[in-house]
Amino acid sequence: MSGTTTAGSGSVRTADSPWRNWAGNVTSRPVREVSPASAEELAEAVRRAAEDGLRVKTVGTGHSFTSIAATDGVLIRPGLLTGIRRIDRESMTVTVESGTPLKRLNVALAREGLSLTNMGDIMEQTVAGATSTGTHGTGRDSASIAEQIRELELVTASGELLTCSAKENPEVFAAARIGLGALGVVTAITFAVEPVFLLTAREEPMTFDRVTSEFDALHAENEHFEFYWFPHTDNCNTKRNNRSAGPAAPPGRVSSWVEDELLSNGLFQVACSLGRAVPPVIPSIAKLSSRALSARTYTDIPYKVFTSPRRVRFLEMEYALPREAAVAALRELKAMVERSPLKVSFPVEVRTAPADDIALSTASGRETAYIAVHLYKGTPHRAYFTAVERIMTAHGGRPHWGKVHTRDAAYFSGVYPRFAEFTALRDRLDPDRLFANDYLRRVLGD
Ligand SMILES: Cc1cc2nc3c(=O)[nH]c(=O)nc-3n(C[C@H](O)[C@H](O)[C@H](O)COP(=O)(O)OP(=O)(O)OC[C@H]3O[C@@H](n4cnc5c(N)ncnc54)[C@H](O)[C@@H]3O)c2cc1C
Repeated sequence: MSGTTTAGSGSVRTADSPWRNWAGNVTSRPVREVSPASAEELAEAVRRAAEDGLRVKTVGTGHSFTSIAATDGVLIRPGLLTGIRRIDRESMTVTVESGTPLKRLNVALAREGLSLTNMGDIMEQTVAGATSTGTHGTGRDSASIAEQIRELELVTASGELLTCSAKENPEVFAAARIGLGALGVVTAITFAVEPVFLLTAREEPMTFDRVTSEFDALHAENEHFEFYWFPHTDNCNTKRNNRSAGPAAPPGRVSSWVEDELLSNGLFQVACSLGRAVPPVIPSIAKLSSRALSARTYTDIPYKVFTSPRRVRFLEMEYALPREAAVAALRELKAMVERSPLKVSFPVEVRTAPADDIALSTASGRETAYIAVHLYKGTPHRAYFTAVERIMTAHGGRPHWGKVHTRDAAYFSGVYPRFAEFTALRDRLDPDRLFANDYLRRVLGD
């Protein structure tokens, strides 16, 4: 980097190396990078970009697989906008700076005897980055992280600081919780919290036929049900998380290292590299690795049960379907893999979410099941993802905003009943498209 100047306690610098996302499939070359240290400095950076005729994009940790966070204008880095502003035990909420990593939030909440209700598989993302694309875990009654937002503060294109909640600017709140970075720069988020609780996780291998035939019951009987199917096999690994009165019984250090580090990261990395170099061995590896995971039960606080480290780099596509379509779609996916020459080294993940009321949430207004496909970094992905996308779109699927897909605004206006509500708000808050990039032009229109 060269040409660093400081503004307040934040910094502005000309970017001379490209920005790159976690998966390494998206790069961009911003004209300059800004690291504001307060909402006021951020608003100033937004105003200055507008004066210079540059577009603005705030990034989180670059964990999106789409180019949603890419910009050739001003890149706002969140590194100095972190920390907890306040915890309100009466309303049971926490207010955090938008660049706070979920990991830091989870650890700080646990120290205070508090927790979010539900979350995704990892906690590296920033709170604003995660919620802006609708990051979710799995849940029968509890929804995405964005659905747990109670108030949001954002800097709009005019440089104004706007607060929204169910009571204040409710039409902004209805859309901006999953705003795709299109409505403004989020500076702080207030989440609902609850007293920290224990979850008992039951991981258990099951056959594909059993999981798919019992899917409705497994979903109905568990607070958080998910499973992985290993392509080229009839094997699945299921995970059921339910609240527990305790006592805590975390996985032993050896068992945890074997499952979470050796099998899910270390050996898996070796298996993926081998599969990429010699694709015909993938089905044999899949049979071996799907049998290596054994049943286990443990009880721990939520973030330790929901999340785990993901060190093997991959590309991902995920579609949200009406929940009743999930089993049919998954069976079609399995049949497609079996009759094709495709060799797929990564498991397919299936999760659920209840309907929510956020305009562009993938679960907006409908009970949802998610089907996610992954391929090891560097593996040609187009044939597999295209075939999967064809199946998912035939079921009215809505792609995750942060994961690979090829859909555009015309498609979205058909699968999101409230699409026009979002674009009208965008027209009002960002008429000159200060926050636009190529991705937003494709998915929301000009
Ligand atoms: C290993 C891995 C595991 C994952 N697991 C899950 C999972 O379990 N569930 C799931 O749903 N997804 C998952 N994802 C996807 C990931 O959660 C989303 O793509 C998420 O948006 C990434 O957050 P980020 O902080 O990296 O944001 P980025 O990818 O950097 O940015 C995402 C969007 O947020 C916007 N943004 C960031 N900060 C602000 C701000 N302050 N104001 C306004 N807009 C902002 C950006 O402009 C961009 O539009 C996973 C991704 C990876 C790589």
